[in-house]
Amino acid sequence: MKVKIRKGDTVEVISGRLEDKGKRGEVINVILDDRRVVVQGVNIRIKHQKQVQAGNRQMNPGRIELEGTIDISNVMLVCPKCSEPTRVGVQRDDEGAHRVCKNCEATID
Ligand SMILES: [Zn+2]
Repeated sequence: MKVKIRKGDTVEVISGRLEDKGKRGEVINVILDDRRVVVQGVNIRIKHQKQVQAGNRQMNPGRIELEGTIDISNVMLVCPKCSEPTRVGVQRDDEGAHRVCKNCEATID
C-alpha cells in the first residue's frame, strides 16, 4: 500500500500508546521504508543529559524531549477542510493524482 501521509500533514493518533491516543500534531518526518512517522508532540521520549564537566566549567544537566517514531497505521490524516480524521482516497485527473478526503470529499493537496 502506498503511503498517503506526507511531511507537514496534520494527523491524529488512533491507536498505540494510551497517552498519545487522540493527540493531533504535525508530521515532521516520514520514514517510507519503515512505514513510520514522527509527529510533533507524540511519543515523546525524554533523554536525560548527564552532567558534563568541561574543564572548570560545569554544564547544566538537562532533559531533552524527543519525538520517537510511530507506525503509520497508528495515525490518520486530519482533513484540513472538515477537521476530521479520515481515510484518504486518490483521484486522478489531467494534472496527476490528488488526495481526497473520504469524509467530505475535499481535495487535500
Ligand atoms: Zn474532509
